[in-house]
Amino acid sequence: MPQLNILLEARGPLLLGTGLAVGNVQESRPYVAGSAWRGALARTVLQARGQLKHSGLSVTDHAPSPDFATVFLGEQAARFGFLYPVRSAPAVSLPLPLTVRTCKQKPGFAPDGHGMYDGLLNRLREAALRGKPYSLGGETCPKCKGRLERRRGFMSRTANGAATYGEARPDRRAFVRVGLNRYTETAQEQILYLLEALTPTIEDKDAEPVLTFAGVWRGSEEQEQILRAWLDEYLLQEDGLYRLEVGTARARGMGHAILRLPPAEDGTPSLVAEDLAVRLERFQPMADGRPADPAHLYAALTLRSPLTILDARGLPAERITSDLLRVYHRNVPPSLEVLTDYSVLERETWTGWSAAWGLPKPVKTVISAGSVIALRAPASERTQLLDYLAALTTEGLGEHRAEGFGEVLVCDPFHVVFDEGERS
Ligand SMILES: [Zn+2]
Repeated sequence: MPQLNILLEARGPLLLGTGLAVGNVQESRPYVAGSAWRGALARTVLQARGQLKHSGLSVTDHAPSPDFATVFLGEQAARFGFLYPVRSAPAVSLPLPLTVRTCKQKPGFAPDGHGMYDGLLNRLREAALRGKPYSLGGETCPKCKGRLERRRGFMSRTANGAATYGEARPDRRAFVRVGLNRYTETAQEQILYLLEALTPTIEDKDAEPVLTFAGVWRGSEEQEQILRAWLDEYLLQEDGLYRLEVGTARARGMGHAILRLPPAEDGTPSLVAEDLAVRLERFQPMADGRPADPAHLYAALTLRSPLTILDARGLPAERITSDLLRVYHRNVPPSLEVLTDYSVLERETWTGWSAAWGLPKPVKTVISAGSVIALRAPASERTQLLDYLAALTTEGLGEHRAEGFGEVLVCDPFHVVFDEGERS
């Protein structure tokens, strides 16, 4: 299945909305959700064809054109991945896993900070030894003996093998704007908004300001052909650079961005570089230099984007079980277990703005990006487990995959590179 690396470079402030403002303040998300650039592309195509619905006026041409339906609609719709900030391209970007902690005094990757310490392998070890579930607390920073605490944010990874990691934090700036009346589209008296937008960062004074987001698009060969044709026909600015308006507050001068599809040979590392079997091997818990539980295989899914798994009633599942996973993939190993007590899941409310309705989309609860799901299967089901993990890597998991939900990293090397080490 074709997979394209995507780069989105801001050319000015971006307000990547959550749909809902708190009071008169609207704060940007620090990343580009799949739906944000998927919707921006759809809008651009429809606008160029005179098919965009706006201002409540009906458009006489109702049926979507076949190419539009091929890319955006149906079970096999193309998947527009989440784009997360990178320090500099080429690199892949991912949220910091929820299993990582860093020094409270000097947070961040070494050498700027006191380093990152990941507890996933310790969780798997405790699961293998049937220990009590991992609990945070007590450990101190090896460099300064200060407290370790959770770290939220994004990191970029620059290469496949001996990768270098760095945090990526977009700058923010507040913009005051006068409110616009939705109906008259003129300034509304006495309404002021504060927009907290992302702004390009100046890394050094001679360089161009940068704010780049990276991610992946996946689709069929036919979908790729259509996508490339649209880019050339409707978005082309100059060779290889495509103009795309993303986010909200476009009427207020925000949202200018350039989309690029860097070719595979530009050095962009793959999200899943090494062989799956090798990565799986590195995740097997050891105790005293021997496999801690040779009868089982352990694996972990690190969520690169939010995840929604529905339960039997069609509601977001409170607890992920292997039976619920079976709804999404037929090749789940027969005796697969989801090790809930050793997983780290967080939930958040998710919303968006529906341009078609002129309303916020319904609020739903999703499992946050960065969450880590621990899995266990009998060693005798190794082949089935590898098949299933491979399917998860290419197909994703759960609902809303066209909007980039459910992108999972299987046995991600981050957890090995930054393993906090066996605890005494
Ligand atoms: Zn420290």
